[in-house]
Amino acid sequence: MTVTPECALDHEVAIIGGGFSGIGAAILLEKAGFGDYLMIEDGDGVGGAWHWNTYPGVAVDIPSFSYQFSFEQMAGWSRVYAPGRELKAYAEHCVDKYDVRRRTRLNTRIVSAAFDEEGDFWRLGTADGDTITARHVVGATGVLTQPKLPEIAGIETYAGTVMHTARWDHDVDLAGKRVAVIGTGASAVQTIPSIAHEVEHLTVFQRTPIWCLPKLDSALPLPVRLAMRVPGTKRVSRLVSQTFVELTFPLAAHFHDVLPVAGVGERVGLNHLRRAVKDPEVREKLTPRYALGCKRPSFSNAYLQAFNRENVFLETAPIDEITPTGIRTADGTEHEVDVLVLATGFKVFEKGNMPAFSVTGVGGVDLEKWWEEHRFQAYQGVSVPGFPNFFAILGPYGYNGSSYFNLIETQMTHIVRCLRRARRTGATRVEVTPEANARYFEQVLGRRRHQVFFQPSCQTANSYYFDANGDVPFRPSPTLETMWTSSRFDLDDYRFEGAAAAS
Ligand code: NAP
Repeated sequence: MTVTPECALDHEVAIIGGGFSGIGAAILLEKAGFGDYLMIEDGDGVGGAWHWNTYPGVAVDIPSFSYQFSFEQMAGWSRVYAPGRELKAYAEHCVDKYDVRRRTRLNTRIVSAAFDEEGDFWRLGTADGDTITARHVVGATGVLTQPKLPEIAGIETYAGTVMHTARWDHDVDLAGKRVAVIGTGASAVQTIPSIAHEVEHLTVFQRTPIWCLPKLDSALPLPVRLAMRVPGTKRVSRLVSQTFVELTFPLAAHFHDVLPVAGVGERVGLNHLRRAVKDPEVREKLTPRYALGCKRPSFSNAYLQAFNRENVFLETAPIDEITPTGIRTADGTEHEVDVLVLATGFKVFEKGNMPAFSVTGVGGVDLEKWWEEHRFQAYQGVSVPGFPNFFAILGPYGYNGSSYFNLIETQMTHIVRCLRRARRTGATRVEVTPEANARYFEQVLGRRRHQVFFQPSCQTANSYYFDANGDVPFRPSPTLETMWTSSRFDLDDYRFEGAAAAS
């Protein structure tokens, strides 16, 4: 075996993705002494979801005290749930403060990643035909990145303006227009009340109603923001916020049979609906028929209320066809539309998205095919046997549903431990053992009986949490357990190989 020396490679670590995962990976690698990295981003700016999603009303759904890095807590959020532009600004702030920008390459789409078995490194191909080599790769590509267009007959014939929420065109003036929104997920919940006052007529095409809970949101005026600077205040706010998030997301979802949180949440949601929507028929149509948590719930104090407006109409008849002038529903109604807004979500746990480029490991094995054959699985959501030196932030069974920032920091603890041992032992190849991976997979599957996802009512939820095999690749663990595990797992779950390690 001829191992390529570090100096012959472009970088020690290539980070693919310039969203918060990539930014967090970069900062934490640097802090751990791995300064020779390159963060590669397809878009023309950093921030990932917060760079791309600029639709009206875009804001975070997890309190900002939690939705930030633990090592870079801000005192200046304008609201408990910060608007999207503040998240984008926070991303820019982090890349500047931690000097990530000089190691960032924008406008660079990775189209392939192939492991070089002779040299123990990854060769990344870009859309421009360049090659970047790195000993290790951190996959920080996120999941909700590729907008999904609905498979509706005739969509290509529509002659008006079409835009997906994740690619909002701010040059389109909605004032006085007849607008249709297809979809009622988290993006629609924020978009609909933000545009309802401005358009002439808004028709919302709902397939499955979403659970909409009240949002405990408020402005954080200057005195509060100043008070946040008092030592210890940010820590306390974060602790309260983390406890709230833990109870309402991971614990509620993964310990559904033990904790009555979902039942309480459903009562809160139904009360919210009853108070918010005047027309009983509309209220009935907006009532979810599946358990809270089967699919991602939303939080809003304005979404349900928007349906009281005279210019907002909820259409629940299935869409039959999109025509050049609008939408025809199965009951034969023609809805004339000037602007069609697709709030139809993203590719999730499916082919072409995990990640969006081909990944070829040892023996020419393709990661997508491997997952097709073996179902989605990855050791602690980070590593897959046969794909050495490739570490994901958001692999299958990595994310437990808490703040995404917890995930990033937890996974980086895991990854940095691997890289440190590799450096210490001179190993050039770090690969999770098939046994450790199988043990973890068995463990996560063994816990699914506690999860909300496998309640019978979830079958009607149309939830993107489910993959083609009916699996829900979320990590069924409380956040404290994920943190503990990432810092304590047995490093012998990996094989460390290479010239020096073997000698
Ligand atoms: P989504 O949750 O996947 O919702 C897509 C919507 O489009 C669903 O209502 C779906 O109906 C509908 N739809 C899709 N294809 C359709 C078709 N052919 N005909 C009719 N309806 C169709 O997407 P999203 O709202 O963009 O949210 C995705 C995720 O992004 C969220 O779950 C969340 O994790 C994240 N997000 C977060 C925030 C935040 O933090 N504030 C904001 C926005 C998004 P069905 O339900 O019947 O499938």
